[in-house]
Amino acid sequence: MKSRKRLSKLPEEWEVIPDTHEGIVTQEEFDTVQRLMTSRRREENAGGFKNIFAGIIKCADCGYALRATSVHRRKRPDIIDCVQYSCNNYARNGNGVCTAHNIEARDLFNAVLADINRFADMAVNDEKAVRAIEKRLTETDHSRAKALEKEQRKLNKRLAELDRLFSSLYEDKVMERITERNFEMMSGKYQKEQLEIEARLKEVSETLTESYEKSQGVRDFLSLIRNYQGIKELDATIINALIDKIIVSERETIADGTVRQEIKIYYKFIGFVGELHIIPTKRWAALKPKNCTVCGIEYVPNSGISKYCPECRERIRKVRGTEAKIRSRERNRQACIELSAKNDRLMWVDAEDSLDIF
Ligand SMILES: [Zn+2]
Ligand SMILES: [Zn+2]
Repeated sequence: MKSRKRLSKLPEEWEVIPDTHEGIVTQEEFDTVQRLMTSRRREENAGGFKNIFAGIIKCADCGYALRATSVHRRKRPDIIDCVQYSCNNYARNGNGVCTAHNIEARDLFNAVLADINRFADMAVNDEKAVRAIEKRLTETDHSRAKALEKEQRKLNKRLAELDRLFSSLYEDKVMERITERNFEMMSGKYQKEQLEIEARLKEVSETLTESYEKSQGVRDFLSLIRNYQGIKELDATIINALIDKIIVSERETIADGTVRQEIKIYYKFIGFVGELHIIPTKRWAALKPKNCTVCGIEYVPNSGISKYCPECRERIRKVRGTEAKIRSRERNRQACIELSAKNDRLMWVDAEDSLDIF
């Protein structure tokens, strides 16, 4: 009997004719899905908040990412005012492992924007400042590089010397001026030194390359950041172009009682230059001032649904309190009247009952 099963070909034997069928998914869709699948970052959440610092912002204490969470605040005109970042380790595993490291998305945004602008201004306007940054970042490297270059020359000289010593040693052996045993001993000694020197030379040249790259990096960074002078908005592209990582410390209360928070920005090419300190915004400060619906005076509301200025609110609260008291007193009085009427009826019933007995 003839098998009805067709022999299937191996995939490599398939004849592929591209673009003859309209695919179920277009190439574009496929690419998008691939990108989403490979990207670990969620750059936009359901509320429309773009997490431009995704993958960049880290906890100073445990190294975990800070995650953006929306904080329930009603009627903020701008989504960024409804978001704060906090340590993901803390959020997942609780306060046994880390602390909250809360930072308002607005505060972070403002701090980073200001810092980028500061560097951009410097790179454009202030040659002296540029040199100061360069100097600060490379000064130690310069003196170290000089010392290393000196060492490098010395080591190379010694290597050449060893070569000469070795060949004359070999000559001595051939001419039988030294014994086989002495030759072995001396050549072993030279070889050992040679290996040590070569290892050290490798180290030195690696460190030197690093330091040359660093001073080139400062120039690269400054020529990169000058393009961003005067920017008012940040997006993920700008952040990723300029910044490697941002480290956020826990809020701390300093001697005079003010609360501050340390942020370290590690820029591309140059790394960490200096820490920033911000005064964390209290949540309500992110609200725009509005006018009291009673007296019309401008005030800063402490919630999105606030309607009255503090004075009016207090007055209204008192009036309402009094009204409520009056109402409740009235209710109580009414209840008393009803109760006593009921009691009266009961007494009459009792009286009637007792009449029957006698
Ligand atoms: Zn943490
Ligand atoms: Zn008012």
